[in-house]
Amino acid sequence: MNLLIMGPPGAGKGTQAERLIKELDITHISTGDMFRAAIAEGTEMGLKAKEYMDKGELVPDEVVIGMVKDRLQQDDCKKGFLLDGFPRTVEQAKALDKTLKELGIKLDAVINIEVPMEKLMERLTGRRVCKNCGASYHVVFNPPKEEGKCDSSCKGELYQRSDDNEESVSTRLNAYMEKTKPLIDYYSEQGIIKNINGDQEIDKVLADILAAVKS
Ligand SMILES: [Zn+2]
Repeated sequence: MNLLIMGPPGAGKGTQAERLIKELDITHISTGDMFRAAIAEGTEMGLKAKEYMDKGELVPDEVVIGMVKDRLQQDDCKKGFLLDGFPRTVEQAKALDKTLKELGIKLDAVINIEVPMEKLMERLTGRRVCKNCGASYHVVFNPPKEEGKCDSSCKGELYQRSDDNEESVSTRLNAYMEKTKPLIDYYSEQGIIKNINGDQEIDKVLADILAAVKS
């Protein structure tokens, strides 16, 4: 089964992706990992990407697509794959479609995890991190035993990362929604989008995803 997964920050996409690849025995293709591997292996596309990254520039679409194309042709993708973090724009989605066609691969479903904006705000702004050990807490969902203090032996002070404040989170979420809306429309028109309610227990979200992709 060949899948793509999308979801806003705080929707639990990472957790679901990890469990989904185990459940379906498919290969996880996250763009970040793919970049690192292509650069480490010194592939043609990897070296090109590195040139841009070293200059602090965005890697152009054709290089990213080239890397995805290389990656999809590796043996471990034959059993199926889960694309994660790509495409991010309709242009990239169109380029991906073209590449998949060339390779004779069909995308079976696009999983879109949905969580109401106010819930995402609550999840993201409630995060607290230990100054000493970096342990992560949540004021509502995973509070420390003693308020503001790390549970582990370090007893470090907990703080809110600057990009987890309400204003930054709201900016991040709005940017995501704005960018991905056309992408969701694009895959909706193809009839392969599966909207999943991400505002539920982790196990229930996974069960819903599995039911949706198998239907
Ligand atoms: Zn700590």
